Amino acid sequence: MTVRSIYSQPEERFHKSEYDVIVIGSGIGGLVTATQLAAKGAEVLVLESYNIPGGSAGYFEREGYRFDVGASMIFGFGTQGTTNLLTRALDAVNMSIETIPDPVQIHYHLPDRLELKVYKDYEKFLAELTAIFPHEKEGIRRFYDECWQIFNCLNTMELLSLEEPGYLMRVFFQHPLACLGLAKYLPQNAGDIARRYISDEKLLQFIDMECYCWSVVPAEKTPAINAGMVFSDRHYGGINYPKGGVGQIAQKLVDGLEKAGGEIQYRARVNQIIIENGKAVGVKLINGKQYRAKRIVSNATRWDTFEKLLPQENIPTKEKKWRDRYQKSPSFLSLHLGVEAKVLPPGTECHHILLEDWQNMEAEQGTIFVSIPTLLDPDLAPEGYHIVHTFTPSWIENWQGLSPQEYEEKKEAAAGKLIDRLEKIFPGLDAGLDYMEIGTPKTHRRYLNRQDGTYGPIPSRKLAGLLGMPFNRTSVPGLYCVGDSTFPGQGLNAVAFSGFSCGHRIAVDLGL
Ligand SMILES: Cc1cc2nc3c(=O)[nH]c(=O)nc-3n(C[C@H](O)[C@H](O)[C@H](O)COP(=O)(O)OP(=O)(O)OC[C@H]3O[C@@H](n4cnc5c(N)ncnc54)[C@H](O)[C@@H]3O)c2cc1C
Repeated sequence: MTVRSIYSQPEERFHKSEYDVIVIGSGIGGLVTATQLAAKGAEVLVLESYNIPGGSAGYFEREGYRFDVGASMIFGFGTQGTTNLLTRALDAVNMSIETIPDPVQIHYHLPDRLELKVYKDYEKFLAELTAIFPHEKEGIRRFYDECWQIFNCLNTMELLSLEEPGYLMRVFFQHPLACLGLAKYLPQNAGDIARRYISDEKLLQFIDMECYCWSVVPAEKTPAINAGMVFSDRHYGGINYPKGGVGQIAQKLVDGLEKAGGEIQYRARVNQIIIENGKAVGVKLINGKQYRAKRIVSNATRWDTFEKLLPQENIPTKEKKWRDRYQKSPSFLSLHLGVEAKVLPPGTECHHILLEDWQNMEAEQGTIFVSIPTLLDPDLAPEGYHIVHTFTPSWIENWQGLSPQEYEEKKEAAAGKLIDRLEKIFPGLDAGLDYMEIGTPKTHRRYLNRQDGTYGPIPSRKLAGLLGMPFNRTSVPGLYCVGDSTFPGQGLNAVAFSGFSCGHRIAVDLGL
């Protein structure tokens, strides 16, 4: 396995103090913005507080294992259409990644012995679901077919900034029907569409889980646009795992950024966005160093941006209103496991969801997510071993106010419980453990720099689809946000969309 050492960066490399654009954070949203702008000739500086790029799409190495920090079910690596935004983002800076296709998106293990695989082949998936709910044959097809209609609208047009009137006019004249289709679905939620066609409550619970496993809210709160993307692209571009691990995506984007003349500085934690005459003009690092730019982009969450990087008296009213509509989702309790290969029976799929009781779908440590990337790329673990990354939603409040010993004991107990539950699908998991690292919401907060370790914003009540999600411009002139706190939300392909939009809006603003 080739291991890339942590970048050593002499201070004198960052000789300039003024740039066109400064991006705070090198998550995929930040890096796509940076590469899009660098490719257009802008002078870009990315400031990342950690020592490698990627944020939630980063990685770490222990004892011969290369673990993905978070994401591992990757959309956006398709070869056709316009929604393959990771492929396109890399291509914009002359980069590409070898990917390994995954024939099954998820293997569900749900209450009432509801066992189901979501195959890449759409008809095979529908047949599997219809075999369990034969009385809902027509409803199943109509629901998922309607999701395709949404996807087909998106997948015909170039996906750029919806805040740019010139682009909106152009795309409307090129694809009037697709634009009208998207306008229709923008205020809708997946649950409303499902209930139009489906009445079986068990099947509706399954649709809730289909949404929850990436939106962390049930179908009635999940925007139809996002559901259209996920429920169709998994059968179109498919799920594709980057060879060498998810961390490769950020590393390749950084390589492309630097080749295009952009710069990235690691261990560079911004603690203030400098405001002059009401406008964002620069940033200050914790070591006191200052950089100025024509435009500032924050890839931190909205809570971190507006509560930590800006003076409290500057929190715009619009931002306060947004907080009435959206709340922080929980973080996760994560186990990064190295296990003996014999634990996994032949035919085991890469991604699993486990839930024993529907009442617990949204509960603390209710739904369990599992990824086994070494089934696709064995080079990520020593020979004869696999990586099992498992995580379950958890709130930071449950991990605070503990002594170091209490915290360690609580971690061990929670990990033991998770492994016990996983024994149901992987008998012998406990006995086959070779390595274990436990992460709590506090770990996510610390290493991912995300307030409370949150996975991102979720609607605090039922909202009108995606209408309430903010775009990239903020109420502070010169300051933009990018990443999962902006339209269209969480997931690598979604934040890549946000990066394309942000880069486009800034390029227009700078006249590039
Ligand atoms: C456990 C888990 C599993 C997931 N699984 C999937 C999956 O299977 N598929 C999928 O598509 N998505 C998945 N996601 C979601 C996906 O990883 C995120 O939505 C996405 O990576 C967020 O990207 P982002 O650009 O918003 O920023 P982030 O990844 O949050 O990156 C922000 C970066 O900014 C840096 N930063 C923050 N503040 C500062 C500062 N003040 N100064 C300097 N740097 C700063 C941070 O260090 C970080 O590197 C998962 C997430 C988690 C946590």
